Amino acid sequence: MQHFAYSRVATLADAINAMQQPDAMVIAGGTELLNWMKEGIAAPARLIDVNGIADLAQVTADDRGLRIGALARLSDVAEHPVVRTAYPAIAQALLASASPQIRNMATIGGNLMQRTRCPYFRAEVEVPCNKRRPGSGCAAMSGNDRTAAVLGATAQCIATHPSDLAVALAALDATVHVTGASGPRSIPLVSFYRQPDGTTERETRLDAGELITAIEVPASAVARQSRYLKLRERASYEFALVSVAVGLDVEEGRIRAASIALGGVAPKPWRLCATEDALQRVTLSDEAAVRKTLTADFADATPGRHNGFKVELAKRAVVRALQMAGEGA
Ligand code: SF4
Repeated sequence: MQHFAYSRVATLADAINAMQQPDAMVIAGGTELLNWMKEGIAAPARLIDVNGIADLAQVTADDRGLRIGALARLSDVAEHPVVRTAYPAIAQALLASASPQIRNMATIGGNLMQRTRCPYFRAEVEVPCNKRRPGSGCAAMSGNDRTAAVLGATAQCIATHPSDLAVALAALDATVHVTGASGPRSIPLVSFYRQPDGTTERETRLDAGELITAIEVPASAVARQSRYLKLRERASYEFALVSVAVGLDVEEGRIRAASIALGGVAPKPWRLCATEDALQRVTLSDEAAVRKTLTADFADATPGRHNGFKVELAKRAVVRALQMAGEGA
């Protein structure tokens, strides 16, 4: 780990000013950034500690929706009574994230800024990886692709995004609020992450010198009847092989509206828009009919050599998550 300067700021304005310095990075919980620094993924010259900006740790809710400050800790948000009752998929996704100790330290903003767990990206020895070393290639394509994407992958990168929270937020139409030297702006969560292209190393639409300030989630019937289901190698602590967040609005057993996002299968939280449309007026208890609605969204799946199982696993996970959401009606 190389030497770096460290400073604390107490206001958002001071944080934005400090972020304009070359090679500056924000540190909050530190549970992901310190990994990057140890692994050589990041080598900031300056760390700007933003933990003193109390306003950014607030969680508030009213009839219109939920606002989560970027510095709120995962455990605090997961246990918030309004989140548990009106946005249960968010609480469930957070409780399925990491260990209790990490959830006590990690922040909402930091969770969304996690980088892929592709083993080649995190490798201690140098291997081809377009995300780590642009233009070097992709070792996963000819190597171990068990955890790789089956939807939305490109010729540059087949890695998946690791955040559970992002999947729940994508399903619930959340908005990411960011700010920088040019002022504040808002980005829909579903557009916040980029699919791999010629600049694979850039994973989000956050510009240099910008930081996340808050997440907003609109209140809705779908959010109130939402569920998060995570399938992984071990239940205690692991990233998702496949995860799914669903929200439902059901009337007399028929689906009036559905919202679905997948995790662990794509470079970003993957909304199943065609499935959502096809589910309208389908009887929730008709499992065959529900499963049939998935056909279009999986028509373009591109499984690799070792991860073909993810396609079937994802389909079953969606059906099961919808049933679970329906049981909570
Ligand atoms: Fe790197 Fe992406 Fe290939 Fe993994 S899948 S080795 S992160 S380019």
